[in-house]
Amino acid sequence: MSTDPRPYPPRQREVTQRREVDFAAELNEKQRAAATHGEGPLLIVAGAGTGKTRTLVYRVAHLIEQGVPPSRILLLTFTRRAAQEMLARAERLVGSTSRSVQGGTFHGTAHRLLRRFGPEAGLPGDFTILDQGDAEDLMQLSRSSAGVADKTKRFPKKGTLHHVYSRHVNTEIPVGAILRDEYAQFIEFEDDIAKVFADYTARKQARNLVDYDDLLLYWAMLVETDAARAIGDRIGALYDQILVDEYQDTNVLQARILKGMCRVHRNLTVVGDDAQSIYAFRGATIRNILDFPREYHGAAVVTLEENYRSTQPILDATNLLISRAEERFTKELYTRRTGGEKPWLVTAQDEPQQTRFVVDRILELHEEGTPLREMAVLFRAGYMSADLEVELTARGIPFEKWGGLKFLEAAHVKDVLAFLRVSENPRDEVSWYRLLLLMPGIGETTARNAIDAMLARTWAPEAFADFTAPPRAREAHGALVRLLDALRAEPASGDGSVSRAIVRIRALYDDILRTRYDRVEPRLADLDRLQAIADGFGARAEFLAAISLDPPASSSDLGFGSDSEDDVLVLSTAHSAKGREWDAVFLIWAVDGWFPMARSLGDDDQIEEERRLMYVAMTRARDHLAVTFPFNVYDTRRGASYSLSQLSRFIDRGVARAFQKVVLETPSEAPITPGETVTATVDVRALLRARFTPGGGAT
Ligand code: ATP
Ligand code: MG
Repeated sequence: MSTDPRPYPPRQREVTQRREVDFAAELNEKQRAAATHGEGPLLIVAGAGTGKTRTLVYRVAHLIEQGVPPSRILLLTFTRRAAQEMLARAERLVGSTSRSVQGGTFHGTAHRLLRRFGPEAGLPGDFTILDQGDAEDLMQLSRSSAGVADKTKRFPKKGTLHHVYSRHVNTEIPVGAILRDEYAQFIEFEDDIAKVFADYTARKQARNLVDYDDLLLYWAMLVETDAARAIGDRIGALYDQILVDEYQDTNVLQARILKGMCRVHRNLTVVGDDAQSIYAFRGATIRNILDFPREYHGAAVVTLEENYRSTQPILDATNLLISRAEERFTKELYTRRTGGEKPWLVTAQDEPQQTRFVVDRILELHEEGTPLREMAVLFRAGYMSADLEVELTARGIPFEKWGGLKFLEAAHVKDVLAFLRVSENPRDEVSWYRLLLLMPGIGETTARNAIDAMLARTWAPEAFADFTAPPRAREAHGALVRLLDALRAEPASGDGSVSRAIVRIRALYDDILRTRYDRVEPRLADLDRLQAIADGFGARAEFLAAISLDPPASSSDLGFGSDSEDDVLVLSTAHSAKGREWDAVFLIWAVDGWFPMARSLGDDDQIEEERRLMYVAMTRARDHLAVTFPFNVYDTRRGASYSLSQLSRFIDRGVARAFQKVVLETPSEAPITPGETVTATVDVRALLRARFTPGGGAT
């Protein structure tokens, strides 16, 4: 079985000829030194846009030129998209031999290695992967079965439990310490929480399930424990060179993995920027960068300060923004790019005006020759682009969205996947539970009884068919048995097998969808898409792993609609924009409480992380940057009222001076009849606004 997960079918590609790479002409001196560094550990630590990723690509090219077999180079990055892009760039330098470089995310690579080496270490090769939602559901089962939650209503909920568990695994901070720091109100439950975690761990193992954290945990254990030394040595021996981009966003576990992987050769290159560390909330730590020279004695350290991305006025603004950070190690950046206008700080009256401004400005730049794909609109959280999406759609401007709620997290998509997952792994309790509860006539009790019956027969394939359903559930039970039998009879691999399985599932499921959910049509369209993605996969296991490890984040990832060559605007969360660049960047909703998010306001470390995130967002711009801020915010959290917002605290007066201010006027109403202008004698909208502003009446 091919275990290389792939979210969509590969495009036919031309064979690229290799060319002579002129390192001296294409890199500056320090970049060149890093790219052509010989054996041993290397750290590149530098600010945004200084060519870190470019240097890494050239280093791959250099290694190949030096005769390192491409398949023995491992390139780890944050997303599959980033990995593919780097490999495409390397291919332009050294030709198609670079295609066999192993590239991907830590989780994707872990998955590949575990499928191959896991069975020797007691992990069955046919495990299924729990995504975050599934993991929380399983935690819920542990929470109920451990009996601890019954004692008191105040026992932490599944989401909190999972967060604490995951944090513990990724940071190695003891559970007690995490509780003391973040959830003092739950300290008294420490022992019971430990019981739930023990049950969760045992439950996963008994059901052949692996969560995201386990992927890293098992990988670390394989390469570093003495008992697994023989396997670890073989895994380590797969690669001669390991390169890691965005190292500031790795956690303790990932550092341990790298240490284990490089035990023999120490050929590790890591690249990062502490000022762009934005994943501490998931356990990432910049200590990995800071401690690198100590961990890897004799490591070469290269710093870069020349920025090649942005114009000086944009850099002035972003340098100022980050100069307010509490702790910082990388230096102020400069560029030789001359000219360019100051970035804009745009005050809009309200959201519709912000939206109109962004769309009008995008069209203006487009008129002037900037393609849509060279522009992006960024925001703190996925839901903040809703109004803009409506407007773009209405005006026929194509866009794709990165980050935020993913298509695969949608309930109806997860429903369909649950059927496939129990066919793949009959012990997948979470998926059983999900699909049983979908069936008309099957409720909590019957679902529980059915699962207990299967458990009692150690999940034998026919255990479900033998289960005696209560009369109300008999029809549903029968239908499910027939479907699962049919799925089992279908080969698990072979061209079109996965999408054929989905067709069978939908013959039963589409009607269920119609009765359970609103907005039926777009949901059915999602399932059509799922089916189309599945078409690109030869095996069920491969499909399930690929979509849970690197869920498609945009329509282009789904293999149709748009293509990266197409001219589409990008809408992205600040997190998902990491590492990218565009000619024009719009950062919308620069409102205090939105960016930084309100929930971070009580915690200094979190506020600092939000500041770095805003720095990441603004440093994506090459030529044009506009930061927008609507000052009347329709605040649903406090009821249906408008409230007056404040500009983000990160743009203080000093920072604001690096911007040119644009204040959008109250838009004039459209004339009642064309050609006839009406002069307002009273501005009722202003009156209304005044009513809802502090000091002006109700708030
Ligand atoms: P980030 O911190 O945002 O990830 P980075 O340090 O990885 O940024 P790159 O994305 O590698 O920076 O480079 C930024 C831009 O500058 C890219 O367009 C890159 O091609 C260009 N660039 C970098 N170095 C040079 C150079 N020596 N000559 C010409 N262009 C360069
Ligand atoms: Mg980069």
